[in-house]
Amino acid sequence: MRLKKIRLAGFKSFVDPTNIPFPDDMTAIVGPNGCGKSNVIDAVRWVLGESSAKNLRGDAMTDVIFNGSTARKPVSQSSVELVFENAGDRIEGEYAQYNELSIKRVVTREAISTYYLNGNKCRRRDVTDLFLGTGLGPRSYAIIEQGMISRLIESKPQDLRIFIEEAAGISKYKERRRDTENR
Ligand code: ATP
Ligand code: MG
Repeated sequence: MRLKKIRLAGFKSFVDPTNIPFPDDMTAIVGPNGCGKSNVIDAVRWVLGESSAKNLRGDAMTDVIFNGSTARKPVSQSSVELVFENAGDRIEGEYAQYNELSIKRVVTREAISTYYLNGNKCRRRDVTDLFLGTGLGPRSYAIIEQGMISRLIESKPQDLRIFIEEAAGISKYKERRRDTENR
């Protein structure tokens, strides 16, 4: 499974529709301070269901919507789409059959989020379920940000365990068991 491209519109500093391709041999995004490098990572975490504004370096969930600049007016909604090449056996269930997977999230100023899987409207839960156990998720180890290693080392055993369980691929089974028990 590989991220092929990100499409952003109205997300943080990316006001105009922007297509960021991720070729096989890409290793880094470079640019001057404040040009939007970290915003790209925020976008990935956001589409995958991040629900804490703090983890997206904002105060409110609607802070991800382009808020205007000296030259541009604010916009009314923000959208991000991730396109994955779906090779391998990481994805299970009905979406396993697709060669390409698209995950999209749109949020309006009213703070209403809508999620789409391959263009079909779905729940946040469907997106998080799809990626559970793949190592990719809003809080998973696929994204190692500044300060995270020291936070992990200093974290409580219960929090550390969540990471280890995701790495070991058992978090999805625990989630399913929790689901069954709650029924
Ligand atoms: P550094 O090298 O300092 O880490 P960076 O390239 O990671 O910089 P980002 O943090 O991704 O930079 O981008 C910061 C820019 O994004 C700032 O100029 C900020 O004004 C802009 N920005 C963030 N949220 C919004 C928003 N909602 N609307 C408009 N611009 C925004
Ligand atoms: Mg940065």
